[in-house]
Amino acid sequence: MPTLVALHAHPDDEVLLTGGTLAQAAAQGHRVVVVVATDGLMGEAPEGQEPPRMRELRASAKVLGVERVLHLGYADSGRGPLLYPDPPDRTRFARAATEDAARRLADVLREEGAELLLSYDANGGYGHRDHVKVHHVGRRAAELAGTPRLLEATVPRETIGRLMRLARALRLPVRYDAEALGRFWSARADITHAVDVRRYARQKQAALAMHRSEVEKSDGRLAPAMRVLVRLPAPLFGLLLGREWFVEAGPGRPRARTSR
Ligand SMILES: [Zn+2]
Repeated sequence: MPTLVALHAHPDDEVLLTGGTLAQAAAQGHRVVVVVATDGLMGEAPEGQEPPRMRELRASAKVLGVERVLHLGYADSGRGPLLYPDPPDRTRFARAATEDAARRLADVLREEGAELLLSYDANGGYGHRDHVKVHHVGRRAAELAGTPRLLEATVPRETIGRLMRLARALRLPVRYDAEALGRFWSARADITHAVDVRRYARQKQAALAMHRSEVEKSDGRLAPAMRVLVRLPAPLFGLLLGREWFVEAGPGRPRARTSR
C-alpha cells in the first residue's frame, strides 16, 4: 500500500484542509505521515518539552489514523504586515530558504518511500505566508525526491462563498472579504480532485477538538469559529467540512476533472 505524506504549515491545518482524506487513506490501509513546517509557536520553544500545539497535533493525528508526525523545525511566521525577527532558537518558516526546507522534506519523502505528497495550492489557500511557503517547498521537495504524485489542497472559490452563506445561516462567527476571495484559493476549473469525506466527518470533528489551545483561544477571528465547529451536530459538520479538494500538479495531472 503506497505511503502518503502530507505537508502542513501549522498544527490544525491537517484537519481543516485534509483531515478526511488522511482518515480515508489510513482506513484503506495506507501509511499516513504528517509533516508540519512550524510548531505553531511565534516565540522560543519551551525547553525540554514539546510545544502544546505539537502535542495537540499528535493527538489529532492519532484520531485520524496518522502513523507518524514530524516537525521540519521552523517557527510560525504569523499574520499581518510585519514579519517579526526570528526567535533565538530557529528560523521563521517564511524566511527559510525554500531549498533548505525542501531538502528536509525530501529526506522524509525518500525515507518513507512516499508515493503521494499533499501540499497547498499556489495561493497558499487564504494566503498566509507560511501556507504560500508550503506550496513552494512541497513542489521542490517532490522534485528532489522524485515523488510520483503531488496533490495540492485547496477549496473552490465558488464553494467558499456558499460555505460562508451557510456558516452565516448557522450563526457561525465568520467574516469574509469577497474582493480578496478572487486572489485566494483556486477556481473550480483548476481542481482535479473533489473527495467526499462525509463518512469521516465525525473523525475529522474529533481531531479538530484535539486542538484545544486553538478552540479555546479568546483572541483572533478563527477561534470562535473553531469552537462552534467542534460543537456542531455531526451531520452539520459534515455539510460544512465533508468535502476536500486538490489540484494535481506535475506529470500525474489528469486532463479532465475526476472524483473519487
Ligand atoms: Zn495554518
